[in-house]
Amino acid sequence: MINDGSKQREIDKRTIPYKLILEERELPKYWYNVRADMTKKPAPLLDPETMKPITEEALRKVFCDELVKQELDDTTRLIPIPREILDFYKMYRPAPLIRAYCLEEKLGTPAKIYYKFEGNNTSGSHKLNSAIAQAYYAKNQGLKGVTTETGAGQWGTALAMACSYLDLECQVYMVKCSYEQKPFRREVMRTFGASVTPSPSMTTEIGQKILAAHPDTSGSLGCAISEAVEVATKTEGYRYVLGSVLSQVLLHQTIVGLECQAAFEKYGVEPDVIIGCAGGGSNVGGLISPFMGEKLRGEKDYQFIAVEPKSCPSLTRGTYAYDYCDTGNICPLQKMYTLGSNFIPSPSHSGGLRYHGMSSIISELYDQKLIDAVSVEQTEVFAAAEEFARVEGILPAPESSHAIKVAMDIAKECKETGEEKTILFCLTGTGYFDMYAYEKFNNKQMEDYIPTDEELQASFATLPEIK
Ligand SMILES: *Cc1c(COP(=O)(O)O)cnc(C)c1O
Repeated sequence: MINDGSKQREIDKRTIPYKLILEERELPKYWYNVRADMTKKPAPLLDPETMKPITEEALRKVFCDELVKQELDDTTRLIPIPREILDFYKMYRPAPLIRAYCLEEKLGTPAKIYYKFEGNNTSGSHKLNSAIAQAYYAKNQGLKGVTTETGAGQWGTALAMACSYLDLECQVYMVKCSYEQKPFRREVMRTFGASVTPSPSMTTEIGQKILAAHPDTSGSLGCAISEAVEVATKTEGYRYVLGSVLSQVLLHQTIVGLECQAAFEKYGVEPDVIIGCAGGGSNVGGLISPFMGEKLRGEKDYQFIAVEPKSCPSLTRGTYAYDYCDTGNICPLQKMYTLGSNFIPSPSHSGGLRYHGMSSIISELYDQKLIDAVSVEQTEVFAAAEEFARVEGILPAPESSHAIKVAMDIAKECKETGEEKTILFCLTGTGYFDMYAYEKFNNKQMEDYIPTDEELQASFATLPEIK
C-alpha cells in the first residue's frame, strides 16, 4: 500500500470532529487586550482640534464612557465581558471552527486547513461581536440611540440587530449607491427596526451642502460618516459608533481568537500560520491577538498574515503616519498605516475592504515586523471564493475570500514542499448580498485596478502635518 498520508487523515477524522463547536461553558468570559503585552504600544489618539493626545473627557463626547475607557486602556490584559453581552453571544457563539477536509483533498495538500466561521448569524459577519458590545454600553449609560454609517451593509445590519435586542434606536446612513444596489440589506436593517437613510440626504446640513454642489452624487463612506456624526452630536442622548479600526472594536473581536485557542487546545492542534483579511483590521486583530500574546510573551511562535486588496493596499504600500480616520476629519487622528483619508479606491473594486487606514494595533505590530502583510487582486480573490464555495458549501463574502486566497496559496506551496503546515483563517462572513459582484466575475467583466505610485504620492501629500 502506498502511504500517501491518507491514513493519517483517517485518524484525524476519527479523533477530531469535523466541526469543533465548543460547549457553552467554553465561551470565553473575557476579552483579551493585546496592548497589555506589547512593550512598544500603539501611539496615542490625537484630538482633531488641538492635535495633542486626546483626553478621556474629549473622547466622551463621541463615544460612551465605558468604551472610552477600553479605547485608552493599554495595560489591562483581560477585560470581563458583561453577562448581558454573554447572553447575546450565546445565541450564535461559540462559532464553529471547521477543518476544511474537502478543500484539502481538492488541493491535494498535506497542509491542514482550519477556518473559523463568523457568518453564522443573520447579519452574516463577525461585526455583530462588537455591535452588541457597543450597543450594550450605550444602553447601560442611559442613551436613547446611536448613529452610524454603512457601506457594504454588514456593519449597519449588525448594529440594527444589536439595537433591536436592547431596545435602542438606530439610525444608519447608507452610502446611496449601496442603498440602491443592495435593497435587501436595507430591508434586513429595517426589519430589525433601524431607520436607514441614503447618504447624502436632506436630513443633515452637510448632506444638504453636498447635494447642492453635486445633485447626482452616488455618495461615499466619508460623506455618510459626516452625516452620522452630525446627527449624533445634535441629537440629545445619542452617540456615534464605528464598526472597525478602533482598538475597542478589535478588543471585542478577540472573542474570535480566544475561541479558536480554546478549541485547538481541546483537540491538541497547534496552528503554524494564522491568516485574516484586513479592512480596518478588527477581525484579523481579534483572531490573532491571543496567539500574538503568546508570541510577545515568548511562549510560542506563529506566522501571522494580514491580507488586503491590491486596489486599497494600506499596509503593503501605505505610510505609517498620523491621519484622520474619516473623510470629514471629525474623528480623532490615529497613527496608522494609511493611504491618506482622501484616498478613494477605484469604483471598479467590488471586493470589499475599502478603508484607507488600519487599526493602530495592527499597524504597530506590523511596524515591529510581528505580522506579515500581502495584497491580492480581486479577480484571483473571486476565483478562490468560487473554488472554496464549491467544495466547502459556504458562499463566502468577498472580504473573507482574501484570506481564503492566501490560505489556499500556502496549502499549494505545502504540496510542492511536502510541509504539513496547520493553517487557520477567519471566514468573516457570507456573500449572499454580494451577488452583483459575483455576477460581474462570472460574466468575466471584473477588472483589477492597482493605484499608481503617483496616485498614492498625491494622496500622501494631503496627510495632516503633526508637529
Ligand atoms: C467589515 C468586514 C470585513 C473587514 O473589516 P475588519 O475590521 O478588517 O475585520 C471583513 N469581512 C467581512 C465579512 C466584513 O463585513
